[in-house]
Amino acid sequence: PTIRELLASGGRSFSFEFFPPKTPEAEEVLWRSIREIEQLRPTFVSITYGAGGTTRDGTIRVTERVAQDTSLTPLGHLTCVAHSRDELRSVIGAYAGSGVRNMLALRGDPPGGPNQPWVAHPEGLNHAIELVELIRSLGDFCVGVAAFPDKHPEATSLEADAQVLAAKAQAGADYAITQMFFGADDYFRLVDRAAALGCDIPVLPGIMPVTNIKQIQRMAELTGMALPTAVTDRLLAVEDDPAAVRQVGVEIATELCEQLLTGGAPGIHFITLNRSTATRQVFLNLRSSVVS
Ligand code: FAD
Repeated sequence: PTIRELLASGGRSFSFEFFPPKTPEAEEVLWRSIREIEQLRPTFVSITYGAGGTTRDGTIRVTERVAQDTSLTPLGHLTCVAHSRDELRSVIGAYAGSGVRNMLALRGDPPGGPNQPWVAHPEGLNHAIELVELIRSLGDFCVGVAAFPDKHPEATSLEADAQVLAAKAQAGADYAITQMFFGADDYFRLVDRAAALGCDIPVLPGIMPVTNIKQIQRMAELTGMALPTAVTDRLLAVEDDPAAVRQVGVEIATELCEQLLTGGAPGIHFITLNRSTATRQVFLNLRSSVVS
């Protein structure tokens, strides 16, 4: 099924994001996690596309195996980084050939990192909107896009960012998934701004339970994500005890998901980093509270 159909069928969506592994050991960890997540019967699982377009083959291979060897609905990410239009067409064709109908259309970050200026491939695309249009023009695919509750670092204002989301929907995006964030209000502000512009596609909040304080601080620096002191204070209070950090990270994520779901979010997209334990715990916590 397409994610458009799954989102329209009522009920909340729960999805899990993985990345293509680089070593045989990491491959084993990934598949163990995917099998564990499969038992939760999620709405879909997604596979990221490596920064700089580097994991193209890995992404397609993992997505294809999910499509063919599991009961899960896969979503393949795709970015414009370092690809000509022809190369993008051939990746879309490879997805289609593997039975993958769902794609997440992204521009991607500049190869030097999110803080470097964006440079398009000379025969490539400049914005995610163009990739939405390209995928749409090639067949009956279901297309998702990215959204940014804390504002994309290059966007001039929150309003401009909401306008880009509305333009993505106008170009044919069926739904959006957000960058990870910690403030439920920031999510609802984005959804409200987009709705005021006539954009009513489902916006799935991207949530990652913190299991490592340094890692989250680095991500905040890189992506411009707001890291509220209410969150960091709770984590730093237990920073010398990794198990307690993980426990507090799961609690914070559970509370955030509860706020989002009771406020009307259409579901949750969990970023797993290929380890299923923390996200599975949050999901199970939700199942015994708001979801049931
Ligand atoms: P765009 O929509 O093109 O936006 C990029 C910037 O340009 C924004 O500031 C936007 O406001 C501005 N803009 C957009 N359209 C226009 C326009 N028409 N005119 C003027 N300005 C415009 N990266 C990966 O490398 N691989 C992944 O698998 C991956 N998965 C992701 C999944 C999710 C859910 C999210 C939220 C992000 C993901 N990213 C991934 C990161 C993403 O590629 C970066 O955040 C990238 O910098 C922006 O991508 P975008 O698709 O939003 O780009």
